[in-house]
Amino acid sequence: MSFNVNNIIRKNIQNLEPYSSTRDGMDLDNYTLLDINENAFSNPYGKGLNRYPNARQTSLKSKIAGVKKVKPENIYLGNGSDECIDILIRCFCEPKEDEIIICPPTFGMYKVYANINNVKVKEVLLKKNSFELDIDSIKKQTTKRTKLIFICTPNNPTGSVVEWKKIEELTQFFNGLLVIDEAYIDFFETNKSVIKKIRNNKNIVVLQTFSKAFAMAAARLGMVVANQEVINFLNKVKAPYNINDFTQKAIYKALDNIAKIEDSVRIIKNERANMAKKLKEYSFVKKVYPSKANSLLVEVSNSDELFNYMLTNKVIISNRSKMPLLKNCVRFTVGNPKENKKVLTLLNQFENL
Ligand SMILES: *Cc1c(COP(=O)(O)O)cnc(C)c1O
Repeated sequence: MSFNVNNIIRKNIQNLEPYSSTRDGMDLDNYTLLDINENAFSNPYGKGLNRYPNARQTSLKSKIAGVKKVKPENIYLGNGSDECIDILIRCFCEPKEDEIIICPPTFGMYKVYANINNVKVKEVLLKKNSFELDIDSIKKQTTKRTKLIFICTPNNPTGSVVEWKKIEELTQFFNGLLVIDEAYIDFFETNKSVIKKIRNNKNIVVLQTFSKAFAMAAARLGMVVANQEVINFLNKVKAPYNINDFTQKAIYKALDNIAKIEDSVRIIKNERANMAKKLKEYSFVKKVYPSKANSLLVEVSNSDELFNYMLTNKVIISNRSKMPLLKNCVRFTVGNPKENKKVLTLLNQFENL
């Protein structure tokens, strides 16, 4: 099938005259800046923060491009991947007419942003137990009105992954955008990312975030990696200064210290294996699902009881039992060794209540 972004972009976005500024794309050194009503005096609490941040995030994008081995033109930066999800829906889905497909149990924000934008959500459940994609059902549910299919791999909260072959199968029949959310890819294998596939598959959009493996959740930075035509539309729609200056500088620095990040990811992966093994030994644990994310989905005899016991002891885990297919399931984020030890101590006590 032939994908053409101009067939799926909302007409008002295609025709949109975006905000523009004289500064766009300029190197501002040596210029006197009297164009956008900033205060020329620096605020004593934030030196240099009197100026608006770089709207195109030029140096941060080239830094990320180097690390991720893509071109800066293929990157859109958002205020967390949450903003990226929202802007994709806003650009491509006509409210009250278009629809998206999601595959629960999965990340909750796809549905929330679709609802905010008044866009219909079709849910195609993952297969029971294996949590594999149900490709046949996705195909059946797809209509001319389906603009986006969200696929999360490794998936939150199951920790399961989707093989490239399955994604490729979807690219071949689908004329909208396949959004591959790789928030947890580094806890699987960084080089399993489908970012490198965007060149030959124009309808693949990859979401990544600096909130998880990069340990920068408070900075709020997420990104879309996709072909340039898609990125251009997102740039047209975004708030001009959506990434603040603290964040641009902090993430730039974090990218200079990749080895540190890799160290922590290695520890978390070890802890994940260790926790999975230990969890299986409790009598109230029915199943520990294999996980490629930084969390473990665990089926227990009574999830509410366990959740409340942990909460009473000041440990917050996630009770996922209300999600489809996840009766009595809780999700533990894999913490640092000290935190994980605390969890096991509490679970020992819970076992002996
Ligand atoms: C945590 C998470 C994100 C990241 O969201 P940010 O807004 O970038 O912090 C995105 N997708 C999934 C599936 C997640 O679990």
